[in-house]
Amino acid sequence: MNRQPLVTIRDVVKRFGDVEVLKGIDLEVMPGEVLCLIGPSGSGKSTLLRCVNYLEQSDSGYIRVADQFAGAVVKNGELHEASESEIARYRQRIGMVFQHFNLFLHLTALENVTIGLVKVRRLAKSDAVERAKAALADVGLEHLQNSYPRHLSGGQQQRVAIARALAMEPTLMLFDEPTSALDPELVGEVLSVMRRVAEGGMTMIAVTHEMRFARDVADRVAFMDQGRIAEIAPARQLIDSPSSERTRHFLNHVR
Ligand code: ADP
Ligand code: MG
Repeated sequence: MNRQPLVTIRDVVKRFGDVEVLKGIDLEVMPGEVLCLIGPSGSGKSTLLRCVNYLEQSDSGYIRVADQFAGAVVKNGELHEASESEIARYRQRIGMVFQHFNLFLHLTALENVTIGLVKVRRLAKSDAVERAKAALADVGLEHLQNSYPRHLSGGQQQRVAIARALAMEPTLMLFDEPTSALDPELVGEVLSVMRRVAEGGMTMIAVTHEMRFARDVADRVAFMDQGRIAEIAPARQLIDSPSSERTRHFLNHVR
């Protein structure tokens, strides 16, 4: 097999003031791979995802998704700072789903999914609506397309957020604790949508505390601790028999 990684992260360092939050992250994610990121609060999981999406700029190292670099482009064989339009193009390939669904409250489910297709993707309205309806159907919400977020459960809102990201046809999906804000009885419907997205071949990096999901759906799991990837292994191996005491301790406390 001679496939290129879809995501390449090389020696990424990120500081906030004097605090080094990412201390040299190296990671590759293959096309179609599902990687779950686990680890204690404050270990840098969200910051890493935000650097991948270029919501944060790393201080050194580089991140490449497909053939594009976060914040940089290759010109004459060298990395140069990317322009705004190059950054926008980079971001368009990456879908992100947050803990808090970040839907537009004054727009219906359908309008929430359509708006990016029209404004960012420049689709004709009718094409955008058609694609948005299909995306809502994919997450089982076609019957609620005209509902406003306040009339949807948290689980339904998160499924709209996933549909909105998928409708943009990203090459990579990032999830940052997508079920952490949900009542326990609503977690399952979101995880099963994520599982279906994974089974459809989407490349995913998901921060989660749902260890059963990580074990069953992820190809690999990375345990982050204090700004480093402390352990990375095939999902079952890491969760069932972690090699480090630190990982074992963490797993014993989330289960
Ligand atoms: P996790 O997602 O694993 O809980 P984060 O990536 O959110 O961890 O945070 C890692 C560390 O970086 C924490 O100590 C947090 O306080 C700090 N941090 C995150 N974002 C900022 C920011 N914008 N400014 C200053 N410190 C930040
Ligand atoms: Mg976080």
